[in-house]
Amino acid sequence: MERRDFIKLTAVGAGVALASSKALRGEAAPVPAPAASPARATIGLPISIEPLAKRDLDVIFDDMRTRAGVTALFPFAYTHEPHRSGPPVANFHGGNYGTPHMQYYKDIPLTLEDMTGPEFGGGDILGRVVTTARKHGMAVFPFLLEDNVRPATVPHWETLYEVDAHGRRTDRHPGGPCYNNPFYQRFAQGLFEDYARSYEIGGIMWGSERQSGVLNALALSQSSGQDPGRCTCFCEFCQKKGRDRGIDPERARAGFGEIEKLVKAGRAKQRPRDGYFTAFWRMLLNYPELLAWEKLWVDSRHEFQASLYRLVKSINPNLQIGWHVWHNLSFSPFQAAEEDYAAMAPYSDFLRPAVYNRVAGGRFLAFVRGAHSSVFGDLSEPEILGMLSQEMGYGKDEAPYDKLNAVGLSADYVERETRRAVDGVSVGATQIWPGVDIEGSAATPETVGQTIKAAFRGGARGIILSRNYVDIKSENLSGAGAALRELNLV
Ligand SMILES: [Zn+2]
Repeated sequence: MERRDFIKLTAVGAGVALASSKALRGEAAPVPAPAASPARATIGLPISIEPLAKRDLDVIFDDMRTRAGVTALFPFAYTHEPHRSGPPVANFHGGNYGTPHMQYYKDIPLTLEDMTGPEFGGGDILGRVVTTARKHGMAVFPFLLEDNVRPATVPHWETLYEVDAHGRRTDRHPGGPCYNNPFYQRFAQGLFEDYARSYEIGGIMWGSERQSGVLNALALSQSSGQDPGRCTCFCEFCQKKGRDRGIDPERARAGFGEIEKLVKAGRAKQRPRDGYFTAFWRMLLNYPELLAWEKLWVDSRHEFQASLYRLVKSINPNLQIGWHVWHNLSFSPFQAAEEDYAAMAPYSDFLRPAVYNRVAGGRFLAFVRGAHSSVFGDLSEPEILGMLSQEMGYGKDEAPYDKLNAVGLSADYVERETRRAVDGVSVGATQIWPGVDIEGSAATPETVGQTIKAAFRGGARGIILSRNYVDIKSENLSGAGAALRELNLV
């Protein structure tokens, strides 16, 4: 887009300031139709900040274009987690690797210093990236993967975070910033507006690798093994929203206490009198507030995402807004029910389900271990794996329990999960750009090619080569390009 066109669009955005201010106030507004589909398939590639700050951008972008025909760059533009920025450094601070324009951040406890990433010499790294990427025919989509771990060296973040069922402020997964916290809402809205107005980007992708408190407490997670007493959220804003819905927070809190007892007993191999599943179901019967609290959390995240979508569309309807979808959905029929693709479609130009088939094996097994400690404690782990595989519709040719960690899931899994997302959003114009894992020591140009072809067989309209440019072997990036050329997409 030429700069004058961008300014024109920004002026159009100013003309719908009313809609914007409504979105900022959190008022309901009609959700606009998704942006027009791009003519060509999007070939995306995430990248951490360090190489963008330290290396020759022309060389990097030329390499991406030449090897794999990359059209969209997804830099981790704002992060307080060192692994997304680059190699961990002592006293890592992190923050925005563009320039925070403070007029967009109103009434939040964070200062300019809190939000500025000082590593790599500071400065507007995102601005340089956007300018150079355009020369190479690439659009930039800041990839905002929500920080779960509270920034250790940055003050002022604490009040944005969730509160667990015992009233303790969380500081890491499975807690995180609260979607009902007005400070966090205003921070996220400020960041989206800042990027939308200040940079000539192609869009924004946000992601959260979390789920609601009940599922976490039940250990139904690829990150199983966590303290079931640390689950969320019972902050003042969630309690008020719960009461407004007619839910008694104290009853919900008591239900969380029952889950905690069940899971701790399960881990100690103390079988409930009537078995694990009966105990689980009885808990829901005795504390229906648990499901209501679950729905509150899920709805709140969807409302949070929809408000960001509306805000950006009111500024520039051509920007594409999409969401990374946590890998855990692949293993959990429970979370898959909550993160309904059909429900996400109205506020999504694109979705990026993580379908990392190589690492899926270990993650699936971790989910199985968690389920074994609670809901399905009367089944063996291999039996749980078999049942969940059938529930999720995976093929019979996947590796068995004892080999799954080493082998991972197949390209067929990539096709099935992509198709599930495509079928889910089929009522709208939302595109599925699955995140396919082409890094890792076991990946080869051939396996990478098979994975990519599987995603497009599943109906993908674009693809995000994952998980990070700096961790992908050059020959595998070339393998991705070869497959995309065979498919006439590059
Ligand atoms: Zn909360």
